[in-house]
Amino acid sequence: MSKAPEQIIREEILALQAYHVPDSAGMVKLDAMENPYCLPADVQVEVTRLAGMAALNRYPDPAAGRLKARLREVMAVPERMELVLGNGSDELIQMLTLAVARPGAAVLGLEPSFVMFRVIARFCGVRFVGVPLEPDFSLDPARVLAAVNEHRPALIFIAYPNNPTGNLFDAPALERIIDAAPGMVVIDEAYHAFAGASFMPRLGHHSNLIVMRTLSKLGLAGLRLGVLTGAGAWLEHVDKVRLPYNVSVLTQLVAEKVLAYPDVLAQQAAAIRDDRARLADQLGRTAGVEPFASAANFILFRTEGAGRVFERLCSRGVLIKNLHGSHPLLENCLRVTVGTPDENARFVSALGAAVRG
Ligand code: PMP
Repeated sequence: MSKAPEQIIREEILALQAYHVPDSAGMVKLDAMENPYCLPADVQVEVTRLAGMAALNRYPDPAAGRLKARLREVMAVPERMELVLGNGSDELIQMLTLAVARPGAAVLGLEPSFVMFRVIARFCGVRFVGVPLEPDFSLDPARVLAAVNEHRPALIFIAYPNNPTGNLFDAPALERIIDAAPGMVVIDEAYHAFAGASFMPRLGHHSNLIVMRTLSKLGLAGLRLGVLTGAGAWLEHVDKVRLPYNVSVLTQLVAEKVLAYPDVLAQQAAAIRDDRARLADQLGRTAGVEPFASAANFILFRTEGAGRVFERLCSRGVLIKNLHGSHPLLENCLRVTVGTPDENARFVSALGAAVRG
């Protein structure tokens, strides 16, 4: 007699909710921190030609040597540091967590932050320690250091800038945390292109520092490519957890080609930064809306009755992210991704109407 799934599936998996991606068909989609711009036509033609010629009958290069060489150059990875590639940085978070999942091990993160740090710890059967941020979303170094000393985490995740709050934490405070940590500290720089700050140049200064990037927010979310950089002494073990062909033939070819035009992505990021400033200004002038400063390609804001405002925006065809209820510090908070100027204007006008009720 076979058993019910509930008797077989692990309890921590039964308790999880599947990651929910709302239907956005036909909407102004400003919920997922995507870059709203396509590649220029000439680059698209080259990408199409390459895809047409790709050896799809063969497995991809498991070492992705050519792509890694290009990434080293474009991301200015310090010499002697190693790279591990993932099917998006989500997969890298999973690989890192699996690699440290000894019985009793802990993973530490700040909260609120990117939810997958906690969710993936759960998948991997690892205890997650969430250290709350301050009400202004800064971190209190004494509080974090006390948690590091108490729980001795094998792995610490810090998003820099943080999602969903958009702020950069104090860099000297992070360095103290890196120095105090017994294991790896992963600085997740998913929003690096919009931040003007990075720990990449610090890699040589801290042997346990790992810097994580992704191409997703740069305009290649559909490609799925995440990058870990750090000392080989750590990354050689993380790489053993990687499934052999995790980065597809098409991802390798297309990413390598697009990264041959770093100016294209940099210009798009610069446009998004300019539009972020304009959008923040407009939010600040909208009655009943309190935006928070952002170093990323999205803006968190607070408004009374956020759940209702979110629903009204949806019914006006604008999809953003409702964070109310996800963490006590995010009471009445919504997050909007910076879109094209036209999308931002449609959002601002819909928001004004939604707040007025
Ligand atoms: N890190 C942070 C801080 C994020 O916000 C996200 C996506 N929202 C990711 C990692 C995952 O990105 P991806 O898997 O697309 O590389």
